[in-house]
Amino acid sequence: YPFNHTNLRHLSQVGAGYYGTVHKMQHNESGRLIAVKKIRYNNICDQTRLLKEHDTHMKSENVPNIVKFFGACFSEGDCWICMELMDISIDFLYKRVYSVKKSRLNENIIGHITVCIVDALDYLKRKLNRIHRDVKPSNILINAAGDVKLCDFGICGDLVGSYAITVEAGCVQYLAPERIENMDKYDIRSDVWSLGITLYEIATGVYPYRGWSNQMEHIEIVVNGDSPILLQNMHNLHYTDPLCRFINTCLRKNKDDRPKYVNLKTFSFYKMYAVGGPDIEEAKRILGLEAIDARDHPVEQRA
Ligand code: ADP
Ligand code: MG
Repeated sequence: YPFNHTNLRHLSQVGAGYYGTVHKMQHNESGRLIAVKKIRYNNICDQTRLLKEHDTHMKSENVPNIVKFFGACFSEGDCWICMELMDISIDFLYKRVYSVKKSRLNENIIGHITVCIVDALDYLKRKLNRIHRDVKPSNILINAAGDVKLCDFGICGDLVGSYAITVEAGCVQYLAPERIENMDKYDIRSDVWSLGITLYEIATGVYPYRGWSNQMEHIEIVVNGDSPILLQNMHNLHYTDPLCRFINTCLRKNKDDRPKYVNLKTFSFYKMYAVGGPDIEEAKRILGLEAIDARDHPVEQRA
């Protein structure tokens, strides 16, 4: 459908980020529900970049693990990015599980998420020659069917072209050391780092770099300190050896020591959950239930 501001009805706001807000909207004629991200484009965004974004999304229309893009339009100084509506991002998911249910995400869920995201990133690189550049828990979304999908490539990725903007936008948490030091040489392995930080955070319930008091100190630690490392018996919990090895390899400090996607796909943690089987069915079922639960308690979970 050609969605635009004249044929969409606003239902509710589902999220907010640095660049704007995300809304649940309904298409008048078809009744279809979609998500619309409104970006104040006079600031940072320009139409060329949005068209590039559009292009990538269009080409990846039938990719299972990527949020579908329905087109962009402009309204009163805002750019509206129309996309598939999902239910919850995994930052909310893991925080809910930890705070409300007092438990952690099971490894089969982490495994399922890992396979979906590695496959999506690998597809973007191989088929579309695109690097995501903004892999983080809030850009991984799930729905009631238990699908796990990546979103927002090209939006922040292209916009956050400079160190200054990145720092200002507060997106530094998932940036690889080499990206902070030299913003020009971007490699897929910087996304592998961000994936490692993301998986560490959702597996343990805590963002791995702690104890810094301001952004500069944080950056200092990422660039000059040791990489985070996940041990099997950390946080009074148990993590399996395949999970620890997968995450720790993604988090190798020197990007040349980090694996690319082909290599990541040979890891036992990936292979275990790539083959499907009862564990994956169970993971999808639980993710679907969590998504429905989040849909039913939107205010509480997004507070
Ligand atoms: P960020 O990713 O930095 O949190 P965004 O503006 O991209 O900021 O998104 C804000 C929030 O909106 C996300 O955290 C997510 O929970 C929600 N969101 C984004 N896109 C969708 C979508 N397609 N469907 C449902 N919720 C979404
Ligand atoms: Mg986002």
